[in-house]
Amino acid sequence: MATARVLRRAVKAAAAGVLHYSGMRRAMAAYRRVQSGGRRILIVSYHRVVSDFTGELQRSIPGLLISQETFRRHIEEASAAGFDLVSIGDAVDVMAGRRVAKKDLCVITFDDGYRDIYRYAYPILKQLGVPAITYLPTAFIGTNRRFNHDRLFHLLRRTQERNFQPVYATLPDASLSLLGPILSGQKTVSAALDDFIGEHPTRVLTAIIDGLEQQLGGGQDLVPEQGDIMNWDEVRRMARDGFEFGAHTLGHTVLTLEPQAVVEQEILESKRTIEAEVGIQVRDFAYCNGWYSDEIIRTLASHGFRSGVTTEDLPNRIGGDPFTLKRKVLWENFSLGMLGDYSSPLTGCQLDDCFGLLGVSRPVPGRRTHSYRNGLLGNLVTRPGSSLTEAP
Ligand SMILES: [Zn+2]
Repeated sequence: MATARVLRRAVKAAAAGVLHYSGMRRAMAAYRRVQSGGRRILIVSYHRVVSDFTGELQRSIPGLLISQETFRRHIEEASAAGFDLVSIGDAVDVMAGRRVAKKDLCVITFDDGYRDIYRYAYPILKQLGVPAITYLPTAFIGTNRRFNHDRLFHLLRRTQERNFQPVYATLPDASLSLLGPILSGQKTVSAALDDFIGEHPTRVLTAIIDGLEQQLGGGQDLVPEQGDIMNWDEVRRMARDGFEFGAHTLGHTVLTLEPQAVVEQEILESKRTIEAEVGIQVRDFAYCNGWYSDEIIRTLASHGFRSGVTTEDLPNRIGGDPFTLKRKVLWENFSLGMLGDYSSPLTGCQLDDCFGLLGVSRPVPGRRTHSYRNGLLGNLVTRPGSSLTEAP
């Protein structure tokens, strides 16, 4: 598996070199520009910007990490590729035809409000005069809590390290489909988590965390040290420097798995909390796990939001829907060349979406049918020993 990954990376890096030096990359960017209606609008997404990437890699979900140096290079690379780095509001205005852009646009976004952003991204952005928006799951801001995905990742790694065989009878039924492939070596922890998190409501994740923690005997080393989240003072400090903040629910909730009353509360309360704490107007939203539905979009629009970002890796178009903004989720490995070092042609090709145009990368659609029923079943399966299984 690792060999295939290295090989794929090598092929991509080699292709990037050819595309870059042959001028194909420029031609592809020009084609995308025409396709997009005159200007490209690239929205990129990051989670954690870290000072010690290799160290963090030992204990954190890899796909959430980028080093400070690579992050800075991404900004430089985007400028060199002809993008103007602008705010989300500017991009939405250009998409709606309210304003005209002289250059292609690139918007930097951060999901989840990790403290790393305050520590390591904010100083770079401030120095370079580049705007950015951070989407906050407000129930976590200013607390010592960790996200379910970080807690689960940590617990699964501990389970693996200790060669621990969980007792499934006292865990939610769904836990076998998460733990099974990991403990048998079929999937890495992060791949298994990726597949699992979007399919199961928060209460199932919490029940697995609680159950596993108990089985592993509790204790401080079962809670990850990493993955700490900003406090409101840090948010306010960034806001004073002009950085924007958007809503990302209260509890980092995948809204398509929740009933309408929960959707309403998660959206409205997270908006109101940021507005009250920071004194700014909140009109932008990021869908947790990138999943959205017509009902969710209607709720956002009715509460005065102007945009919603997905994780669909597709180009945005002038005249497109501001509530299904396409985004490229980036992390360290997006820029790694053949020898595992930083590759400028590869990064450029990624930002220019050459691989999307060639059909190499396959975007995951974020539009989902709302599944309250599954949500309710999800609630039931969290009871230990329940004989009910999750609906597909
Ligand atoms: Zn998120």
